[in-house]
Amino acid sequence: MPVKGLVIRFSRNHFTVRVGNEELQCGIKGKILKEAKGYYNPLAPGDLVEVENGQILALEKRRNEFARFNQKGQAPQLLAANVDLVLCVTSPAFPPFRPRFLDRILIQADAAEIPAAVVCNKYDLIGSRGVDSDVEERLSDFERIGCPVVRVSASTGEGLDDFRRFIRGKFSVLIGQSGVGKSSLVKALVPDIQIRTGAINEKFNRGNHTTTQSVLLDVPIHDVPIHDDPGHVGITRIIDTPGIRRFVPSGVQGEDLILYMREFASLAGKCDFGLSCSHQNESGCKVKEAVVAGHIHGDRYESFLRIRQDLSGSQVYPDYD
Ligand code: GDP
Ligand code: ZN
Repeated sequence: MPVKGLVIRFSRNHFTVRVGNEELQCGIKGKILKEAKGYYNPLAPGDLVEVENGQILALEKRRNEFARFNQKGQAPQLLAANVDLVLCVTSPAFPPFRPRFLDRILIQADAAEIPAAVVCNKYDLIGSRGVDSDVEERLSDFERIGCPVVRVSASTGEGLDDFRRFIRGKFSVLIGQSGVGKSSLVKALVPDIQIRTGAINEKFNRGNHTTTQSVLLDVPIHDVPIHDDPGHVGITRIIDTPGIRRFVPSGVQGEDLILYMREFASLAGKCDFGLSCSHQNESGCKVKEAVVAGHIHGDRYESFLRIRQDLSGSQVYPDYD
C-alpha cells in the first residue's frame, strides 16, 4: 500500500521522505515524475508524495512553489513547496546590506502568492562603525510598503522571541546570501541540530554538496495555536536553503514586473503612454512621478529597472556563494 510522506531534503536523485516518525531514503519510480516536468529539480522540501517500497510514485498537487531561475540549467529551480511564508534574511553589514537582493525575493514571493517578510539579522551591528547608516531607513521603507520586518541578532539573542512568535505555527522558507547568519539563526531556533556555521564551512567544507541543498526542519515551539485557527495547534517548520549569490525571479516576464512590486502595481497602465511606457524617459510617466513624490523609493525604482533588464537578458552569472 502506498503511504503519504513529506520530502525533507534531497541530493541529486535521492530524496529523504518523512513518513510518520520515520525518515526513508527514496528514489523516483521510473526516474520521472510526470507532475514535475520542466524543472531543474523535480521535488523540493515541503512536497507531499506517495511512497511505496522506497520509491516515490506520485506528487500531490502543490499549494504553491518558491523557485528561482537557474541560469546554468536554464530552468526553474525549486527551493521550497507548500510554504506559508518566505523569509528574506539579510544583515546590515558583513556582508553588506543588499536591498536589491531583497527586492528580488519579494518579487518572487509575490508572483508565487506567498506572504513574505524581511528578517534583518546582526541587528546588534546597527549604529557601529562601518555600518551603512541608511539600513534602518530602507528597512522602514519595506514596512511602509506593507512588508513586515523582523529585527534580530542570533549573537545577542535580541529579537529572537519576536522572531519565534512571528513564525510559530507556520511553515517558512529562509532565503539569503551566505554570511548573513542563516545557519546561526537556524541553530538558535533549533538548538539540537547539527549544522555548520560560517567559520567551519569556509575552512573545511567549501564546495561540499550539502551546502547547496535545502532542508526542512521542525522548530520546537510547542502548543502554539495557529493564528487563523485558534483551536488548532500548529507545527512550526522552516526550510533552510543554501546561500544564494544571485536571485533571478522565475516565471516573471519583464513586462509584468510592475505587477509584482507592490507600490508600483496600481500604476500599471496609468502612464500617458499606457502599457507601452518604459518608465524611463517618457513624459506623463506615473511611475517616475511617484518616485519624485516619494511614494516609490529611489532604490526600488533602480531595482525595477535592473531586474526588468535581467528578465529580458540572457547573461549567465555564478549562482551560489
Ligand atoms: P550563513 O552563511 O548565512 O549561514 O551565516 P552563518 O550563520 O554561518 O554566520 C556567518 C558569520 O556571521 C559567523 O561568523 C557568525 O558568527 C556571524 N553572525 C551570525 N549571526 C550574527 C549576529 O546576529 N550578529 C553578529 N555580529 N554576527 C553574527
Ligand atoms: Zn511610465
